[in-house]
Amino acid sequence: MKWYYAKEDEKIGPITKDNIKVLVENDVINQDTMIWCTEWESWKSYKEAFSEIENYQEPVAPVEPEVEVVSEMCNECYNLFPENEMVQIGEKYVCAGCKTLYLQRIREGFGGGANNFAGFWIRVAAYMIDSVILTVVFLILGSIIALFTGPMITQNMVFTATYFINIGISSLLSIGYYVFFIGKFAATPGKMIVGIQVIVGDGSQVSYLRALARIFANSLNSFTFFIGYLLVVFDDKNRALHDMICNTRVVIR
Ligand SMILES: [Zn+2]
Repeated sequence: MKWYYAKEDEKIGPITKDNIKVLVENDVINQDTMIWCTEWESWKSYKEAFSEIENYQEPVAPVEPEVEVVSEMCNECYNLFPENEMVQIGEKYVCAGCKTLYLQRIREGFGGGANNFAGFWIRVAAYMIDSVILTVVFLILGSIIALFTGPMITQNMVFTATYFINIGISSLLSIGYYVFFIGKFAATPGKMIVGIQVIVGDGSQVSYLRALARIFANSLNSFTFFIGYLLVVFDDKNRALHDMICNTRVVIR
């Protein structure tokens, strides 16, 4: 309700009930001052209106009830959402955006059960097989290079240069090896032998680009003192650090 008062034929306001009290105390409003409020048909003197003003209760603004918002993490995109915006599937929560994808993946056999994810030791085995294969290739290549540079090996400079060329070639070769096999077949020969493959979180195939990114993400593991690899043991999707960064999973075929 809005209050007004008249002063020399001028309508002043709107003011509150408390304003009126102050104005009365300061003799701006006296017993004969005309008062009007938006719910009255006509003006009344303060004398007449006094009790009405006095009894008027300022409506209390309704306080928004405080709803405790419980956030849950989406099991798919790992963002936090209020619980009431999420869908509970089994014991896990997924956000509305991920629901379709998540259900589809469960139908396809991914993500529904932890059994599909390759554990730590099988991945170590695959890695060792790949390392053996690459080492053999490097030895052969190194020998070929040494054949050409062998006569000059007494010269220190040439020896050093050969050494670095070897390292460069072997780095490029192992990058090429992982990118090619994972991009093309979803698995390196080592992974094929132990029967595991790399897929994207949504179940799709890993592109060459993602496979390349995964190699660089993999190199970050050395900065974590290889704890990044141990995450495989603790993560519910058996993801290593580089799988988390590149949204990949290693699964049993
Ligand atoms: Zn989500």
